Amino acid sequence: MPGDQTTRDDGKAIDPFSALAQFFQTERELFGEFLLVEPRANQKETTVPPKSLPGIMAEPLLFDLPSPTPPPVTTEPWGTASTLDGLNSQICTCMKCPLGSSRTKFVFGVGNPKATFMLIGEAPGADEDAQGEPFVGRAGQLLNKILEAIQFKREDVFICNILKCRPPGNRKPLPEEVEQCIPYLKKQVELVKPKVILCLGLTAAENLLGTTESLGRLRGRVLSYQGIPLMVTYHPAALLRNPNWKRPAWEDVQAIRKLHDELVATG
Ligand code: URA
Repeated sequence: MPGDQTTRDDGKAIDPFSALAQFFQTERELFGEFLLVEPRANQKETTVPPKSLPGIMAEPLLFDLPSPTPPPVTTEPWGTASTLDGLNSQICTCMKCPLGSSRTKFVFGVGNPKATFMLIGEAPGADEDAQGEPFVGRAGQLLNKILEAIQFKREDVFICNILKCRPPGNRKPLPEEVEQCIPYLKKQVELVKPKVILCLGLTAAENLLGTTESLGRLRGRVLSYQGIPLMVTYHPAALLRNPNWKRPAWEDVQAIRKLHDELVATG
């Protein structure tokens, strides 16, 4: 019978498990190991609260899983901090990696401690190291303009980085630096509890999501970190180098603004 999902056109019964397996096989062929958030009928994609599954998969909406309880980020004393200021004062003298000795200032992060929108970059550069605040150099000025264009003030959002200290010569963070530092970021996310996260550049995305996918594959999609919807776009410094990426970046930030507003409106 047409529309009857339990029979085929020839009237034979369809085993629902085979149908499901076939569906996943087709999805995998099309999208690799990623599952996209598909809209339910009569529901816009961006209204779907994408809870997390392991890795970077957004919930495929086949099952209503409860939000996972994130594991504690550390057993160290700062792990029990209940405010951002409290956390900062406990970690700002960190010497866990050699960047502790070369930094001028520890760059904790800046913005509204109750921000609904959190932006995560790579690591402080020279200006940030000198001033102790993320995204204050040229890339930061472009970021401010991007935020203004989507009607956010810098002080409304929370901005931070994967690393809190500047790598010499602005080189990419080393895995051992990220390993020492990323628990601080995870604790910041736990305290701020943003509705959405925007990763600025691949370093932020790959370290937060534990993925090796390219930025081209990650952007334009709603992913998930610990049940928090997450999107990825170009790093502002990359936009300064390659203005052709400004158009897609503009689409990304408009999409995350829309997602943000819908999630805030639905609580
Ligand atoms: N680039 C980043 O990723 N973070 C900053 O804070 C500044 C530049």
